[in-house]
Amino acid sequence: MKPVIQSKLPNIGTTIFTTMSALATQHHAINLGQGFPDFMMPQRLIKLVSEAMQNGDNQYAHMNGLPLLRERIAQKVESLYTTVINPDTDITITPGGTYAIYTALTTVLQPGDEVIVFEPAFDSYIPNIEINGATPVLIPLSFPSYAIDWKLVRQKVTPKTKMIMLNTPHNPTGSVLSRHDIEQLRNLVKDTGIFILSDEVYEHLIFDGIQHESILRYPDLLERSFVCFSFGKTYHCTGWKLGYCIAPPALMKEYRKVHQFNCFSCNSFVQQGLATFILEKDHYLSLGSNVQQKRDYFQQLMQQTKFKALPSYGSYFQLYSYDGLSNELEKDFAIRLTKEVGVATIPTSVFYKDETDNKVLRFCFVKQAATVEEAVNRLMKL
Ligand code: GLN
Repeated sequence: MKPVIQSKLPNIGTTIFTTMSALATQHHAINLGQGFPDFMMPQRLIKLVSEAMQNGDNQYAHMNGLPLLRERIAQKVESLYTTVINPDTDITITPGGTYAIYTALTTVLQPGDEVIVFEPAFDSYIPNIEINGATPVLIPLSFPSYAIDWKLVRQKVTPKTKMIMLNTPHNPTGSVLSRHDIEQLRNLVKDTGIFILSDEVYEHLIFDGIQHESILRYPDLLERSFVCFSFGKTYHCTGWKLGYCIAPPALMKEYRKVHQFNCFSCNSFVQQGLATFILEKDHYLSLGSNVQQKRDYFQQLMQQTKFKALPSYGSYFQLYSYDGLSNELEKDFAIRLTKEVGVATIPTSVFYKDETDNKVLRFCFVKQAATVEEAVNRLMKL
């Protein structure tokens, strides 16, 4: 008799990002699907990381992350968000944002717990909840503004609600939380035992002069939160898979118990290089306006097509409606666009458990001008 796995994720296939990137490669399509820049990251950071490797920085880093990097993250947090955090007890460096999120959920969730998730939701959230035996309580963001309906949220809170997951700037929609959302959240969680998980991997990719409403700005919310970040997004190196989580000491203590027997510690030389490069504030302070130019250029080009833009205030992404252009389901249309037109995108329906189909595709615009120009040339034929 052969062993048979009883799947922990019976209804889950391969993530859409891998699927669409593979399809794009196969059909030589321009890949505006998976979110990653196609331009070079800062050369100085590459140099710093190579130097660290050459200088012998090749053994285990501290389990919680290189102390110098954590110290400098704490300084950055204080200067950006005016909140003082302790680098020894409140920060853990992780192999990417997705891992940071998974670890937070695994730290907190018990079978039977409920987690409030807004849809469309990044595709790892729901499987991460379910693998821990907990139940996602799904709340749709209002279409097409993708704002949170707080009245609906209050209706969905039960004694089993263990956590609320937030994501700002939001993947896939590019919506952002406002001060009003923060106030609503405050009113909702005060006097409850509800935790918050805030996915802020696009913290610097925010446009039009809007302030990033980080949970780190609000100590009363931070005391119940895990806040997750990504170096990959900030430094154009998604393949380096490095991020971090910030949480108060009691929460982080438990988080580290899970982390220590999973990844244990992250690559030392990248942390060493980042510990120096993070001091270059101009890089991250100008990121929003640099990426905004890319959004604006892409939007301007796309006006020549029949696609209709939905607003994007942050992230790598811009949603476009193809209502009136085709009646196909998003998945079918995205596959056909990749194969026949040569442009890969992500169908937004994959970010809904019930595959809600609003005839909207997600485009990643964080690309070189020539890439988006060629993509739009192809899309104009539709
Ligand atoms: N965050 C990226 C996106 O949304 C991809 C992440 C991944 O491929 N796992 O496209």
